[in-house]
Amino acid sequence: MTVDLTGDSPPLDPSLLPRTAVIAIDGPAGSGKSTTARALADIFGLLYIDSGAMYRALTQAALSKGIDPGDEDALAAILVPANLVLKPSKGEVSVFWNGKDVSLAIRTPEVDATVSRVSSHAAVRANMVERQKVMGRLGGVVMEGRDIGTVVFPLATAKIFLSASLDARIERRFRQYQQRGLDVSREELRQDLAERDRQDSERQTSPLTISPDSIVIDSSELSLEQQNQMCARACLVNPTLDLELDTDLETAIREIPWHYRLAYSFFNASARFFGLRQVGNEGGALPRGCILAVNHVSNWDPPLIGSTFHRYPVHALAKAELFKFWPLGPIFRWIDSIPIQRSGFDAEAFREAAARLADGANLLIFPEGTRRAIGHPGPVRNGLGILVQATGAPTLPLFIRGSYGRQPGGSPKSPLEVHFGPVIRWHGVQALLRDHDKKEVSLRIGNLCEAAFRELQARSFAAYPETEYEKELGARQLKKFARRQEQVFRN
Ligand code: C5P
Repeated sequence: MTVDLTGDSPPLDPSLLPRTAVIAIDGPAGSGKSTTARALADIFGLLYIDSGAMYRALTQAALSKGIDPGDEDALAAILVPANLVLKPSKGEVSVFWNGKDVSLAIRTPEVDATVSRVSSHAAVRANMVERQKVMGRLGGVVMEGRDIGTVVFPLATAKIFLSASLDARIERRFRQYQQRGLDVSREELRQDLAERDRQDSERQTSPLTISPDSIVIDSSELSLEQQNQMCARACLVNPTLDLELDTDLETAIREIPWHYRLAYSFFNASARFFGLRQVGNEGGALPRGCILAVNHVSNWDPPLIGSTFHRYPVHALAKAELFKFWPLGPIFRWIDSIPIQRSGFDAEAFREAAARLADGANLLIFPEGTRRAIGHPGPVRNGLGILVQATGAPTLPLFIRGSYGRQPGGSPKSPLEVHFGPVIRWHGVQALLRDHDKKEVSLRIGNLCEAAFRELQARSFAAYPETEYEKELGARQLKKFARRQEQVFRN
């Protein structure tokens, strides 16, 4: 795949990458994957996972127990029950094997010389890949290795294949060993790297290959800064899902019951009073049975969207708690809202939502599942992907800004806007489901929706820069949210 990643392209905007992004970096030993993967984790706020360290930990354990690196069964026997933990600390990753810190022990010439043999066994790979998939199940990771884009995360948000000439790689490894005070000659390194390249590329199970949808970057002649910048840009190129954007929109149901007219006219007049602007697709035309996927920042978001679509009936998925209160409950039912339980998976609500979409109704959902930090949309949860897989419904991403009301202290007000993305037809999804797990497909669909939110937000900020109020409140909310996500990871 060829894309322009040079410094002449527009400045890099890290906020465009979805929080649920999965970045896969593959390449041979010494191509600079670890350094760049760390840099990307830093730039985009992702968790860095070094899959090579996992194979190294197993190799080190095998060497210390005197297990033959060719004995697949014996290796599997110590790997399957092992407690293998990668723990980020101060920009580095510590590796623990059954509670013991082996971070240094896995970086010796002996491990270097043996690891490719150990990692060539199918039973070893199956177990490692399973562990790696679990680590990336919520997204928000950059993982480097040999088979990340091809086997571990075939639906990764971005895939990079980093290569470099053998001479460049020998030089880099030589300097790394010197810094650690280890005495290895260039000739030994040449033999080791060439042999590992051969073993990694020739093995039967998931050999080192270039996935056709990965962006190949040759780092031989690049400075570290150039390499990191190019890879960061590559993360923002979104391949993989065969998307088609809809242009034939005006097919939605137009008969609007009188009570809709009443409610929407009221919302619309109020929103206009507060200066609502619709940006993109001003007429708000829709296809039949379309999902309106909206970012969520305030309790005013549902009526705001209602006011935007006063020409079509829009049914909404709304949290079940709201239906308990009078007069909200009767009003919600009156305008065809569907109650959804937010803890766990509410199958009944999803069935009802799918049935309404099949009937041609438009359905408003907040795919982030709850309100998110201002200025930091996402992550988008699995619900959108499940609904898309079940119904194939086209999806219109909408981005709301400014619904959080008056801003204190006389700070300039942010504009009240609803930005329209292009309507997405999910043509590639059925084909993906033949080869991939439903959850992985959902993560990818959520990914694309979040990318659309971020793109629309960037457009809004370009026209009217983020206000101080938005920045401060967003940063505070984000911290609170990050603590919550950390707990999810721990659990
Ligand atoms: O990346 P690093 O050089 O630390 O990886 C050590 C070895 O682990 C590689 O040479 C390769 O044999 C194996 N490996 C692998 N699959 C991965 C990562 C590493 O087979 N995803």
